[in-house]
Amino acid sequence: MSIYEYQPMLIFFVIVAAVFGAVMGSFLNCAAWRIAHGESFVKGRSHCPECGHTLGASELIPVLSYVIQKGRCKACGTKLSVRYPITEVAFSCITVICLLRFDLTILCLRNYIFICCLFVLFFTDLDDMIIPDGCHIVSIAAWIVAQPFLFTGWGDTALSVAAAFLFGGGLLGVSLVMDRVLGRDSLGGGDIKLFFVIGLYLGMIGTLFTMMLACIVGLIIHGLSKGREKNREFPFGPSIAVAAAAMLLFGQPLIAWYGSLI
Ligand SMILES: [Zn+2]
Repeated sequence: MSIYEYQPMLIFFVIVAAVFGAVMGSFLNCAAWRIAHGESFVKGRSHCPECGHTLGASELIPVLSYVIQKGRCKACGTKLSVRYPITEVAFSCITVICLLRFDLTILCLRNYIFICCLFVLFFTDLDDMIIPDGCHIVSIAAWIVAQPFLFTGWGDTALSVAAAFLFGGGLLGVSLVMDRVLGRDSLGGGDIKLFFVIGLYLGMIGTLFTMMLACIVGLIIHGLSKGREKNREFPFGPSIAVAAAAMLLFGQPLIAWYGSLI
């Protein structure tokens, strides 16, 4: 089945994806917050971080709840972070793009799961410099489960696995040398494991592009941050996550365009 078979179906699926994406964005945001604060994200209901007030159904609607409550907690009136509605809208858009890009396929589902993991680790690394192993485990599991359905020959599979070990292992080697030279931690272990996973999903060329793109994004973010922010230790995970998601969704045309330049 394809969403492109006829127009009403396309419109229907885009709306479903947009709503689902906003709900998913809200859930993942909450999961990231709980992981960063050492809470279980399976147990317990959503609550206000200030007063602990348990959120009712009307307070859990993505974007709309924020607008209706004018960005404040219903119980204590604390201002809620504008990050929530922004990321919900952003993830809604990402979900629609993922569907339009990969159609109703196993590939779409697999890549979407990976993007969800990238979204979570973007925030946990940004807030607390943590890249949860759970994100890597879920991503790798999705890749393994989907692989028999997407099988295009042993050559491709071997190349993906080789890319994972090359980039994961290569970065581990580089970081060990850098740690010695600099006398401090250079690249986090989470970043290295993340590049292992990206190798699986994007292969040699895609991972190489992700690495370059991540450095560019990192430099831009670092350039934009000022004062106190600039001096504190800088998490690289968010830049890698943005670059990997961009390569996953727009990588093919980007690589083709780059190829045409040289
Ligand atoms: Zn409150």
